[in-house]
Amino acid sequence: MRVATRRVAARASARKDPPPTHRVVRHIRRLIEGRRLTPGDRLPTERDLAREMKVSRSSVRAALQSLAAMGVIRSRQGAGTFIQDGPPSLDSQPLGLLAALHGFSREEMFEARGVLEVGVAGLSAQRASGEQTAAMAEEVASMFAALGDPPLFLVHDVRFHRTVAAGSNNPVLAALVEMTSTLLYERRRATIEHAKDLRESAEMHRRIYLAIRRGDAEEARTAMAEHLRLAEEALAVEDALAATREAAAKAVTRARRPHPARKGTWPTTRP
Ligand SMILES: [Zn+2]
Repeated sequence: MRVATRRVAARASARKDPPPTHRVVRHIRRLIEGRRLTPGDRLPTERDLAREMKVSRSSVRAALQSLAAMGVIRSRQGAGTFIQDGPPSLDSQPLGLLAALHGFSREEMFEARGVLEVGVAGLSAQRASGEQTAAMAEEVASMFAALGDPPLFLVHDVRFHRTVAAGSNNPVLAALVEMTSTLLYERRRATIEHAKDLRESAEMHRRIYLAIRRGDAEEARTAMAEHLRLAEEALAVEDALAATREAAAKAVTRARRPHPARKGTWPTTRP
């Protein structure tokens, strides 16, 4: 009876008091909403937050991790934890996890990119500042410089798409492109070594950049759509090549593996 009462009381108090990790998240959220913490500000240390909120340091750590995953804060090695400044960015982990769970197909990913990035390229042509187009030019130049280094090329490819998205000057679109491009980066990193079209790809990016710089929204959209179509084809070829090599490597391993019967570990009689 007393146990039951205690349980009811515990449930009631659980309703009133959310778990410590949630309390820390809520606390920081209120500080941000009240403008007591603004972009670029440093957060109190883990120990100070734990003391102030009367929770364990591990609760504070868990709260900070979830805020970091949401792109609200960022920790810098040796310097502390800061409120994210610059355009909002979402860590791609939640989406990456969904991708692993549901197995986003290549077609689905490129369809999403098409819907997002073709429109974003048009907006960027209408709105990008001189500084933003200069950042795009830099990424295009870095792509041409990295033709012999596919993994580095891929880094600049992804950054180019982010600078185009930044040029839309719509932080929602920029955050969405950031998320999908990170996911694609993770996916393509495994196959980029098989890439065959890097020069052609760099040319396509230059065409998009030039259209944006001219303020030609229609051409920017057309060039982006064309680029995504070619990129999807390229990824399909890379996937096929990677799969063939993997199958060949497995066949070699199988051929080399000794036959179980010859290993002498196969039980032929039962005790
Ligand atoms: Zn690209």
